[in-house]
Amino acid sequence: MAAMRGMLLICLCLLALPGHARVVVPERDALRYRTESDPRGLIADMRQQLDHLGDSASSARERDLLWLMGTAAVNVNDDTALTEAVLRLDSLASAQHFSLAAASAGFLRSRQLIATGIGDGISEALRAAAKVQNDSNPVVRAWASYNLCDAYAMSDKARSALSLCEKAQDAYRELGDTWGLAQAENDQGINFANLDQAENAIELYQRSRQHFASIGMDQLVVMVGDNMARMYLKTGRVREALALSQTPLAQELATGRVSDALVSRANIATDYAALGQPALALSTISIAVTDARAAGMDGLLPDLLARRSQMNERAGHSAQALVDAREAIRLLGEHNAKALRADEAALETRYAGRERELRIRTLEHQNRLQDLALKTARAQAAERTEAQQHQALIGMVVKGVSVALILIVGLLYLLLRAQRRHAAELRIQTLRDPLTGIENRRAFMQRAMALLGDGHASRQPHVLMLIDFDHFKQVNDSAGHPQGDRVLSLVTGYLNRAVAATGHVARIGGEEFAVLCPRLGAEAGLRLAETLRAGVAALPLPATVLLDHITVSIGVALFDGSQCHDLSSWMKAADAALYSAKSFGRNRVVSSTVLH
Ligand code: GH3
Ligand code: MG
Ligand code: MG
Repeated sequence: MAAMRGMLLICLCLLALPGHARVVVPERDALRYRTESDPRGLIADMRQQLDHLGDSASSARERDLLWLMGTAAVNVNDDTALTEAVLRLDSLASAQHFSLAAASAGFLRSRQLIATGIGDGISEALRAAAKVQNDSNPVVRAWASYNLCDAYAMSDKARSALSLCEKAQDAYRELGDTWGLAQAENDQGINFANLDQAENAIELYQRSRQHFASIGMDQLVVMVGDNMARMYLKTGRVREALALSQTPLAQELATGRVSDALVSRANIATDYAALGQPALALSTISIAVTDARAAGMDGLLPDLLARRSQMNERAGHSAQALVDAREAIRLLGEHNAKALRADEAALETRYAGRERELRIRTLEHQNRLQDLALKTARAQAAERTEAQQHQALIGMVVKGVSVALILIVGLLYLLLRAQRRHAAELRIQTLRDPLTGIENRRAFMQRAMALLGDGHASRQPHVLMLIDFDHFKQVNDSAGHPQGDRVLSLVTGYLNRAVAATGHVARIGGEEFAVLCPRLGAEAGLRLAETLRAGVAALPLPATVLLDHITVSIGVALFDGSQCHDLSSWMKAADAALYSAKSFGRNRVVSSTVLH
C-alpha cells in the first residue's frame, strides 16, 4: 500500500525547459501543486490553453501543457485526458523531431502501465530516458533521472531504484529544485519501506515532508505523512500512524481522488485494528469496500476485501470473513485474468507482427528463389538453344562437307575412271594400228620381247613371219590410195582370222605385217605361211580396186635358240628371208633356215 500511496506524488514533477528556468519558482510549483490539489481543474485549464495555442506557440510550451495534463490525468485515473496527452506528445515528437516530447509520452505510458499492472512499464521508462540521456540541459537530465527512479520504485524494484533515486536527489539538490528533491526523497522512502527498512523510510519521508513544507505544499506534507504513518504502524507507533492517516482522507475526499481516499480509509481501518478497535476497523473498511464497489474500482477491491476478511475474522465473524475472502480471491483471479489476457493480447500482437514479417520474408525468399530458378531456366534454355544451333550448324557443316566429299570422291572417281579409260585408250592407241585395228609395231615388239624373255624351255621353236604386199604402189597408183587402204583392211581381216588359233598379226609398217607364232615349230610355221600366202592370193577383191587379186611375199624365221639369239637377229633373219622371197619373184614363202 505504500507504493500505491507513492503514486499520489510521483506525478507532480514538472519539467522546466530552458527559458522556463527563469520562471519564478512559486508559479512553477503552483502548477505542479495543482496536479495534486486540483487535478481535474488543471486538466480542464490545460485543454483550454492547448485549444487556444496560436500557430506561433513553441513546441516546448505545448509539451509543458501536455505533460501537466497527462500528470494530472494519471492522478485521477482520467484515461481520456491521459490518452490525449500521450497521443499529442507523440505527434509533436514525430513532427518536430522533439526528443523531450517523445520522452514525456514514454514516461506517461510507463506510469499508466505500472499503475494498471499491465505490460512492461520499466522498459517503457528506460526507452523514454534513453531519448534524452545526452540532453545538454541539466534540468532535462534531472527530470529523466527522477522519472526513471520513480518507475523502478513504483514497480517494487526497490534495490535497483535506490541508486536511481539517490541520483535524482543529487540532481535536484544541485539545481536547487526543492519540489523535485522532496519528490525523490519520498520515492526513496518508498524504496526503504519496500525493503522493510522502516527507520530509513521514516527518515526519508520526514525529509520530504520538511522540503514540501518549506515551499508551502501542505497537502503534499500530509500525503507523505500518510506514507510515514505506515512505517509508524510497522514500528508499533500506532497512534501517530492514525493521526497521520486521517488528515489526507479529508483532502482526498474534497478533491475527488476516490482511489486515494479508498487507500487512506483502508489504512485508517488497519490503524484501528492495530489499536485494538475491531468494530471501528470493520466499519471503516466496510465504507471503503462500499465506495470501491460504487466507483467500480475492481483493482482495489480484492485488497480491501482481504483486509475486511481479516478484520471480520478477528471480530469473530467467520462466515462473513469467508465470504469476503472468497470474493477477494474471485476478483483477484478476474483481475489477474484481465492482466493475463492483456499480456496475451500484447504477445499475440507482437507474435502476429513477427509472423507477418516472417511470412513476408519467406515470400520474398520464395520470390527470390523463383526469380533465380527462372533466370537459371532461361539461361539453360538459351544454352540449349545455342547448343542446338551449334549442333545444327555442325550438322549442316558435316552434311555439307559430306556431300562435298561425296561429290569430290564421285568426281575423283569419274575423273579417275575417265583418266583410266583415256589411259587405256591411249595405251590401245599406242599399241594398235588405227587403219586396220590390229596390233602395231610397238605391240609386236613388246610381245616378241616378252616371248623371248620366257626362255626356250619348249622343244618347238617360235615362228616369225614378215609379210610384204607385192607391187602395192600399183594399187594405189591405179585405184587410188583409199582403195589401197581398203585392200589393206581386207587382207588384215583375213590374216587375223587365219592366225587367230596359233599366233598374232601386227601391222609393222605401211603394207608390211608380222605374224608371231609361239612354239609353233618349223613345219607348222611354214605350212601356216604357205596357207596365208595362198589365202591372200585367193582373196576376192572389190571391183573398185581394179585388180583381180593381190599377193604377198613372206619371210619366215624360227627362233630355236641356236641360229637367232635375240629379237634383232631374229628380225633380221626374217627380213632376209622376205627379201629373198621378193628376189625369187614374189608371191612366195622363204624360210631363213633354207638360206643357211
Ligand atoms: P614390191 O613388190 O617391190 O614391194 O613393190 P611395191 O610397189 O610394193 O614397193 P614398196 O613395197 O617399196 O612400196 C610400198 C608402197 O606401198 C608404197 C606406198 O605407195 C604403198 N603404201 C604404203 N603404205 C600404204 C598405205 O597405208 N596405204 C596405201 N594405199 N598405200 C600404201
Ligand atoms: Mg613394202
Ligand atoms: Mg611392197
